[in-house]
Amino acid sequence: MGKGYNGKILRVDLSERKVWTEEPEEFIYRTYLGGAALAAQYLLKELPEGVDPLSPDNMLVLACSVITGTPIPGASRFTAAAKSPLTGGYGEAEAGGWWGPELKRAGYDAIIIKGRASAPAYLWVHDGEVEIKDASKLWGMVTGESQKAIKEELGGNRVRVLQIGPGGEKLVRFACIVNELKHFNGRTGMGAVMGSKNLKAIAVHGTDKVEVADKGAVREVLKWLKENYVQQPGDMHDMGTSRIVPSLSENGILPTHNFRDGAFDKAMDISGERVKETILVRRGTCYACSVACKREVKITEGPYQVSQEYGGPEYETVASLGSLCDVGDLAAIAKGNEICNKYAIDTISTGAVIAFAMECYENGILTKQDTGGIELEFGNADAMVKMTEMIGKREGLGDVLAEGVMRAAKKLSGRGMGDFPHSSRGMGDFPHAEKFALHVKGQELPMHEPRGKRSLALAYSLSPTGADHMEAAHDPFYELLNPEGKHVFASLGLLEPVDMLDMGSKKVRAFYYTKQLFDFYNCVGMCMFVGVPIGPLAIKEIVKHVKAVTGWDTSLWELLKAGERANVMMRIFNFREGFTKDDDTLPERMFQELQNGALKGEKIDRDEFKKMKEIYYQMAGWDEKGYPTEAKLAELGLKWVESVL
Ligand code: SF4
Repeated sequence: MGKGYNGKILRVDLSERKVWTEEPEEFIYRTYLGGAALAAQYLLKELPEGVDPLSPDNMLVLACSVITGTPIPGASRFTAAAKSPLTGGYGEAEAGGWWGPELKRAGYDAIIIKGRASAPAYLWVHDGEVEIKDASKLWGMVTGESQKAIKEELGGNRVRVLQIGPGGEKLVRFACIVNELKHFNGRTGMGAVMGSKNLKAIAVHGTDKVEVADKGAVREVLKWLKENYVQQPGDMHDMGTSRIVPSLSENGILPTHNFRDGAFDKAMDISGERVKETILVRRGTCYACSVACKREVKITEGPYQVSQEYGGPEYETVASLGSLCDVGDLAAIAKGNEICNKYAIDTISTGAVIAFAMECYENGILTKQDTGGIELEFGNADAMVKMTEMIGKREGLGDVLAEGVMRAAKKLSGRGMGDFPHSSRGMGDFPHAEKFALHVKGQELPMHEPRGKRSLALAYSLSPTGADHMEAAHDPFYELLNPEGKHVFASLGLLEPVDMLDMGSKKVRAFYYTKQLFDFYNCVGMCMFVGVPIGPLAIKEIVKHVKAVTGWDTSLWELLKAGERANVMMRIFNFREGFTKDDDTLPERMFQELQNGALKGEKIDRDEFKKMKEIYYQMAGWDEKGYPTEAKLAELGLKWVESVL
């Protein structure tokens, strides 16, 4: 058996109050690596078609990888996956922090949960032992309170707590899962799935070490990182992810005013630099990570007081609760972030659904009567904060918005709610609210602008989880590609620069290759802020690390194939649920002109977009219906999927 993993997967049936251990063969670990691919494999094999995502029949998979918990920056991540209550398709989100490495030390590589507990429960996993414990007293607590209570009950700070907040308990469709209060499996509503199982938390503690095959080789990778990564003023460590706010605005690609605009006049007020100057008190980190990109903020005066306990806003939050809602008040954004983290709801979807509601209000679709007296206007910071709390509690209009923009738009258009976004059911006849609902496959758009970064048209439309910004590298990296091989993607064979606005075959190729890299990161649990191109760790060093940990004679080629395998399994999962190539689309606003900024007047051309997708399908080995061909399934070793369709 290779090293790096325990060879044990914990199975839990909450309805039956049964736990057992499964021991997959080495072949499974080498083929799927862990994380996204391991989770997709279980969901595709074991979840029957058509399951209600919020029923006991849904499965929640929490999967580490073969390198999670090894002593290298970025190797802290694990995947949460299930059928998504937000999209009705494959749902998945990754998180770093401390829980994944602790689960590995406790003796397990993954946990697979089905059923529903008869009363609120939590799991206590420690050194190979598993208990299902009563969580009645924890139900209803915000995340800070319940984490404190669990740690007190189990004996201390070395216990790592993964949990949902009241948002997950109340089945907010974009509720998330959080570990150690600051690290989120943010997207696709995995917190609602956990809530539907009456499962408040999973506490873990372990004393075993994660064994590696070649300690010397692991040390060499660390040495490389030490020599090649130096923290600089203005970088991820210094200013965090929101360091990019001013340049995005300047370049006309900062999502603003519910994606009507690309430039925000208060961009500097909400930038990483302003966070650093005003409210930052500490830079947080994940297990073994020297990048330490996380923010911890504190505000002790004024209308928006914020505790350091819940971390601080990252870029996606700053843009979604900020520029997208035209809010330039940093304290209000920090408060909105704190509320999201207490209730454990996704900050991207929360900001997006509030911006949607603001545009509905502007157009008379929502009135003061609907909002409970709140002036839900763009730029109203107080309204944004109040609405965030109402969503977390599912109060008033918050109850409608907690369904996400797609369902809220249906509701506000006077149509029934509850169906899944199969294109065959049609979304074209919602003339009002629907056109303000910026989503793909039911998931709200993240804070990156496809009209300026054109590969995102592919990323958002093709992502199996609905609009997602971590599918592949973004276009600025393709502009820097270099014929002399002086770019971090040279080892992928990407040498020719491609313009940001290009939508031709060179752009599709760059996207296709880097998508495989990012999919591999999600399988192996490597943080995308540590691996290139965003972070410092070179592709060859990551490959070296996987070899050093597992002892396998593996290669970049084999590892990229694992990434592609994960993506194809997710796509087949969605097709089984009734999605078609018509769901590979973008919201109507993307085909309309940006209203301000450096790219004013730019829009996605429909024919170019269609052609771009056709080229991608062919490159990826998908047929004209967007379905992976028989040959592609065989090439990826996925012929078995034919038996589960
Ligand atoms: S770069 Fe940031 S998010 Fe990634 S592992 Fe390090 S601290 Fe965590």
